[in-house]
Amino acid sequence: MEFKTTRNYALQLDQEDSLSRFRESFHIPKHTDGTDSIYLCGNSLGLQPRQTKDFLNQELDDWAKLGVEGHFHAENPWMPYHEFLTETTAEIVGAKPHEVVIMNTLTTNLHLMMVSFYQPKGKRTKIIIEADAFPSDRYAVASQVQFHGHDDKENIIEWSPRTGEHTPRIEDLETILKEQGDTVALIMVGAVNYYTGQFFDLKKITKLGHAAGAMVGFDCAHGAGNVDLQLHDSGADFAVWCTYKYMNSGPGSLGGCFVHERHASNNDLPRFTGWWGHNKETRFKMRDDFEPMHGAEGWQLSNPPILSMVAIRASLDLFAQAGFENLRKKSIQLTNYLEYLLSELDGDRISIITPSNPKDRGCQLSLAVKNADKSLFDTITAKGVIADWREPDVIRIAPVPLYNNYEDCWRFVDVLKSEL
Ligand SMILES: *Cc1c(COP(=O)(O)O)cnc(C)c1O
Repeated sequence: MEFKTTRNYALQLDQEDSLSRFRESFHIPKHTDGTDSIYLCGNSLGLQPRQTKDFLNQELDDWAKLGVEGHFHAENPWMPYHEFLTETTAEIVGAKPHEVVIMNTLTTNLHLMMVSFYQPKGKRTKIIIEADAFPSDRYAVASQVQFHGHDDKENIIEWSPRTGEHTPRIEDLETILKEQGDTVALIMVGAVNYYTGQFFDLKKITKLGHAAGAMVGFDCAHGAGNVDLQLHDSGADFAVWCTYKYMNSGPGSLGGCFVHERHASNNDLPRFTGWWGHNKETRFKMRDDFEPMHGAEGWQLSNPPILSMVAIRASLDLFAQAGFENLRKKSIQLTNYLEYLLSELDGDRISIITPSNPKDRGCQLSLAVKNADKSLFDTITAKGVIADWREPDVIRIAPVPLYNNYEDCWRFVDVLKSEL
């Protein structure tokens, strides 16, 4: 598709966009001059849907009216509340309903999954992660290695980009596995790397990992609600994600968890347990023997915070209305358009390090700034752009198809242009 650089052209694309009305369903933060800020930070914290407040008030009112009876008699009974989130969540991440559950937070879920799927034995003790993994993932992985009595420096293999490149290549993962595959217990990578925005080929990675005899899991914090993950078809053993980034469910909201159906009834897997993972028919009989629920729900620990789930429900409702396939289609065009506008800029102060093929990325573009000069970021921030800076030298820009429009991209590049 051929794009043009004029503002009118951006407005025309917005007019032709069948999803443009969803912007009205969100609160767009204001800049100090009263105009809409140019919010391109949904990769970090998604915006608040307008209906979230009503959804919350419903549960607050029911709690006020019913007290404990709300567990069964609220308009939306709290006892099975997490089940209201299952279907749309499964659709968004490409899973079967019994493969997903909303519970805990991301890093907690990552640990729970590693308790089950990282089982070092004999010389098979290592974990492969991508270089530049998100710090929390790195800490979690290292502490699991140590917990099993191994040295984390010797047992974490980094899958790195080649010198002069920004993103790791699949053939280099293949080489690692060829050379030391029989020592690898687990591959755990970010489905979409938080820094470069690279979307990995989950199916290929899983195939390579399984062929080498390792388990494979993905951190989908930057994938869920952004790219078409197809978790079931990928064959991955597990995946985890958060819901406050592309899923718009509020700061620190609950996480999601995927367990492939081949493990759904595997009661031999070690796992940390709590009463909410117990067979719900007999949960309140308070028996001594733990009987795990079928599928991902069997990993639940506690009765969940309903008020946080409410916000997830309000957001999922919008995803269901828009249709994830439509969103992804718009996302590809929106990001291609942003990439085009950036390519028309003069000078060499910024360069895009995100892969240029739409199948290898989501909506985020990561701009490396020459000489790691953060002042560029500070000035565009003062001019109403909300994005984020990641050390050492990257500005992450994420036009989100649910609430961002083509004009946002145009305005952002216009601000940038005046600074370059
Ligand atoms: C955002 C993010 C996290 C955050 O973890 P929490 O447990 O939700 O605080 C972890 N890993 C990755 C890859 C992330 O992008």
